[in-house]
Amino acid sequence: MMTTLALQAPGPDAAFEQGTIERRDVGEHDVLIDIAFAGICHSDIHTVRGEWGEIRYPLTPGHEIAGTVSAVGSAVTRHGVGDRVGVGCMVESCGECEQCKNGAEQFCRRGATFTYNSPDPKRGEGAITQGGYAQQIVVDERFVCRIPEGIGLDVAAPLMCAGVTTFAPLQRWGVGPGSTVAVVGMGGLGHMGVKIAAAMGAQVTVLSRSLDKADDSRELGASDHVSTKDEASMKALRGSFDVILNTVSADLDLGGLLGLLKPFGVLVNVGLPNDDYAFPPSAVIGQSKVVAGSMIGGIQETQEMLDFCAEHGIGATIEVITADEVTEAYDKVVAGDVRYRYVIDTSTIGS
Ligand code: NAP
Ligand code: ZN
Repeated sequence: MMTTLALQAPGPDAAFEQGTIERRDVGEHDVLIDIAFAGICHSDIHTVRGEWGEIRYPLTPGHEIAGTVSAVGSAVTRHGVGDRVGVGCMVESCGECEQCKNGAEQFCRRGATFTYNSPDPKRGEGAITQGGYAQQIVVDERFVCRIPEGIGLDVAAPLMCAGVTTFAPLQRWGVGPGSTVAVVGMGGLGHMGVKIAAAMGAQVTVLSRSLDKADDSRELGASDHVSTKDEASMKALRGSFDVILNTVSADLDLGGLLGLLKPFGVLVNVGLPNDDYAFPPSAVIGQSKVVAGSMIGGIQETQEMLDFCAEHGIGATIEVITADEVTEAYDKVVAGDVRYRYVIDTSTIGS
């Protein structure tokens, strides 16, 4: 075992503490990564605060990891020392089931191992995976992606979750030149959805709670930004969209959103609210609409997304923070006060 400096949540409401956590020794298929930056995803906050069920504390969250390879195991072929790499939401899967073979490791039949808060048998019985708010991590090479030259490690980190979570459903539902896409919620996921959908050639509209971010939306590639509180503008959008990407972390009126779709249109939900979805059957049956969901993306898909982003000059729009600003950053994300992703400079941990 080795240790690394990390941020740890001691409980659901307590401030983050700086300390050391264990990592397993580098195995023959493993890569040791010196983490440079780690993004703060709203899922980290849901998890740490116990909103998705009880968890084991202390926990080091973080699944938007970017850094440099500093050591490799004897059987590693895909990565070498000095490579710029990223790790997202998963670090292990069986590799043999239908889902793994089809590149959907997140749906591994035996259960994928997530980057934090998953059982971690490789580190010992009863151990739990610990994430990327840390200076080093050891990951099986199959779950490590290459960050292309041209994307800075700081703006690449959020691509590892927010990037692939928006890229995968946009690609799956056929977004391309001529598509009309609405992105609901201009946060960490939403702002990536805007950039990626625009780069795919779609005409993008942002649906936000206010007009505060309207200038940013246009700068990121949207052609329109509408406040969901403006009833007249919302009514004017009825029947407009091929795809709506809902990134909101709170309960929304899905029936209202479905009304904004064209016939055969798709509402893809990636935000994870606490309550059940509710909409009348006629909202989908009436014009053959689809209500879909999407969870992150597979490893090959993540690499494809990174290559797409490099080709189109896309990185996340970020605010870099130090280790002692993370506790406050959580409150700011929940308050919607971030433009558009906080990224931790992990060199500040323990200093
Ligand atoms: P975020 O940065 O907090 O963004 C969420 C956005 O939703 C906010 O910027 C805000 O946009 C809007 N919003 C927030 N509260 C709202 C409310 N009460 N009513 C209406 N709109 C509200 O969060 P994120 O990191 O993008 O994550 C968003 C959600 O996706 C979270 O639930 C997260 O757990 C989930 N997630 C899912 C996956 C997946 O694989 N499916 C992956 C990662 C994250 P405006 O200010 O523009 O209204
Ligand atoms: Zn995430």
